[in-house]
Amino acid sequence: MPLISVIAPCYNEEPAIPAFYSEITKVADSMKSKHGVDFEIIFVNDGSADGSLDIMRSLAKKDRRVRYISFSRNFGKEAGIFAGLSASKGDFTAIMDADLQDPPYLLEEMYTGITEEGYDCVAARRVSRKGEPPIRSFFARRFYSLMRKTSKIEIADGARDFRLMTRKMTDAVLSLSERNRFSKGIFGWVGFDTKWVEYENIERVAGETKWSFWQLVAYSVEGICSFSTFLLSLATWVGIFFCFAAFLFIAFILIRSLFWQDPVSGWSSTMCVMLLLGGLQLFCTGVLGKYLSKTYIETKNRPLYVVKETEEDIII
Ligand code: UDP
Ligand code: MG
Repeated sequence: MPLISVIAPCYNEEPAIPAFYSEITKVADSMKSKHGVDFEIIFVNDGSADGSLDIMRSLAKKDRRVRYISFSRNFGKEAGIFAGLSASKGDFTAIMDADLQDPPYLLEEMYTGITEEGYDCVAARRVSRKGEPPIRSFFARRFYSLMRKTSKIEIADGARDFRLMTRKMTDAVLSLSERNRFSKGIFGWVGFDTKWVEYENIERVAGETKWSFWQLVAYSVEGICSFSTFLLSLATWVGIFFCFAAFLFIAFILIRSLFWQDPVSGWSSTMCVMLLLGGLQLFCTGVLGKYLSKTYIETKNRPLYVVKETEEDIII
């Protein structure tokens, strides 16, 4: 019987986990009878400070399909996804948020997309961002269009991490062992045929979002730096442009002082140029620093996460 591994990274999701479990098991039961597939549900406890781990333990005790991996501290959602995929045994793997914002009923459509239509991956895309702060939606859209322009990787607008993949694609994703992970970029980078299914945004069942606006900004910078060297080359192009502009300006000043007398004005324009160039230099140094720090983190080659406990530690 084919096996689907569902991976749910959880960070302080105590109120959401029971709802998630009951929804996912409904889908699992119906897909078992319809398509003859088995499920394993892997919860990744990303250093939750609430009772999430206790709920995982008790679910694992009563249901053999439930497994869990508990980190020693909060390592972030990306590390959770990686840990879940590494531990998964399924022929297919699905990544889902624990807050039911990724509707489990889509799993059936995803499964038939792979088994009947021959895709390697079926991924979900939100067509609306209903219920999200407008400013967040605006920047999210800008980010996706920038990502598409600056890297050669296709990321659909509103793409989620929610997707079902074949074992081959999962292994390919796991073979990218970089520390600065940006999963949406990685899924695009590994290639394979992806089908997109669309759905309306759903608000989370319980708890609140774990991402602040600034965390999302940092995550976007991560994505852009991880998948394109556009910013590095941007520094060169901006530099060339301003050198050229400076030459023109110098020529202008020379000609003016040769043919007309130069009044001792121009202090303000000098200041403007100085400030502009100073700002540009700092910006370009910042870009270099960003890439350098990423290289530094990668060369340390630390593990992505540390596991403290799994379902195998339960003594029955
Ligand atoms: N998450 C995690 N570690 C973190 C932050 C979030 O494992 O450090 C999980 C969280 O529990 C949820 C998923 O990642 O299952 C998505 O987070 P959230 O719903 O807060 O993000 P949003 O849907 O608002 O983008
Ligand atoms: Mg969510």
